[in-house]
Amino acid sequence: CGICGVVGHRPATPIVFEGLRRLEYRGYDSSGIATVEHGRISRCRAAGKLDNLGKALEQTPLTGTTGIGHTRWATHGAPTTNNAHPHRAGQVAIVHNGIIENFSDLKRALEAKGRTFETETDSEAVAHLLDNHIQQGMSPEDAAFATIRQLQGAYAIAMIFEGHDNLLIGARHGAPLAIGYGNGEMFLGSDSLALAPLSNRITYLEDGDWCVLTRDNVKIMDGQGRSVERPIQTTALTA
Ligand code: GLU
Repeated sequence: CGICGVVGHRPATPIVFEGLRRLEYRGYDSSGIATVEHGRISRCRAAGKLDNLGKALEQTPLTGTTGIGHTRWATHGAPTTNNAHPHRAGQVAIVHNGIIENFSDLKRALEAKGRTFETETDSEAVAHLLDNHIQQGMSPEDAAFATIRQLQGAYAIAMIFEGHDNLLIGARHGAPLAIGYGNGEMFLGSDSLALAPLSNRITYLEDGDWCVLTRDNVKIMDGQGRSVERPIQTTALTA
């Protein structure tokens, strides 16, 4: 139901956790964070309140300066820790808001390729699709574009990749996602509220847009893969 992500130079977990706090108002049943550090992805998830995730993070601290977080409002699969986002497959981790309408067809095709699903969610199909493209030798950027082209339904998605500490990819179609611009760090959030203390320069992605963020750069593409410019709005920084 809510997404927050950062690619930066400071510890990502506190930034993402606070972002999730500011998204609590949307309602949620579980939450989780994943980070990438020295090329390896780690994650921590918990059912129930964000305080439960806070406690779990004390047991499993997540280091790294790039990370994604999610507050989930379950549509497919019970609100358990195992069904909580981020979802992992191979070299990738993703968070997803919305509903992937064609997830059962995607899942069937991916299972036929020998992939094993670990959750009851529609969202896990996105992680497997993405990783399947990576395994076939695509770059993260190409894999992300190939993946979103296969999705039907509503989504805001954030993705991180093993072997890529300085990379965060986002995509939206029918669910909101915004980019926050920082100095040597870039952010993704479901709305300006999530980004408010982090950045006063925000770009709302349009439907079909996807974006490739590094610490110092933002690229936005449309659904045809063409590079596009979207306006940057200046907002008030709030504490
Ligand atoms: N459909 C996804 C799930 O049930 C995402 C729900 C959401 O937007 O939080 O896991």
